[in-house]
Amino acid sequence: MSRYIGPVCRLCRRETAASKTGEKIKLFLKGDRCLSRNCAVERRGTAPGQKTTGKGRTKVSEYGRQLREKQKMRRYYGVHETQFENYFREAARVPGQTGRTFLQLLERRLDNVVYRLNLATSRAQARQLVTHRHFRVNGRIVNIPSYVVRAGDVISIAPGSMKSPVFESNLEVAQSRRPPEWLEWNDEEKTAKVLQLPPREQIDTPVDEQLIVEYYSR
Ligand code: SF4
Repeated sequence: MSRYIGPVCRLCRRETAASKTGEKIKLFLKGDRCLSRNCAVERRGTAPGQKTTGKGRTKVSEYGRQLREKQKMRRYYGVHETQFENYFREAARVPGQTGRTFLQLLERRLDNVVYRLNLATSRAQARQLVTHRHFRVNGRIVNIPSYVVRAGDVISIAPGSMKSPVFESNLEVAQSRRPPEWLEWNDEEKTAKVLQLPPREQIDTPVDEQLIVEYYSR
């Protein structure tokens, strides 16, 4: 299954146009640009190819809503379709709320954790940094972006990577922005600890995971 390589801002504009509440949906796929005034969703919330917000919108079926939500979450975390489905199957095997477990599994991916720690400007950059062996988990190099962290894990930057230009600027950001509370950043040692599994209220991913559970339960 191939990865989407087109203009990523189109994806945010499409989700925003499909939003029933008219809320701006930002998938944060372009690093610092997403926080600037140049964000395409901030400038115009219309769907790609659509000239005026709201005009020409057709009624969306329940299935259509579920499908859109699934696509939105998959793109947010940058995961392939098959892998995404595998996360769902794994979550469904765990007793409790499947939607919450599913979201937690994606949130616990090492590339996402690096992004949440502000050590990368986007999940795409985080994925690349992990693949290039810049991070250790509990002292061992991990170069698998889909590695799922556990409570108690300690994430550190490989000593040789600390001086690279990308970390010089990203570390400045990491020092100034707080990660979610389930992660603890140690500024002196430049390490992070996973304090607990991410509680739902600390995951700001703009998705209704229940719709995705319904999508896969059809
Ligand atoms: Fe989405 Fe970021 Fe592009 Fe804004 S700048 S539309 S948040 S990818």
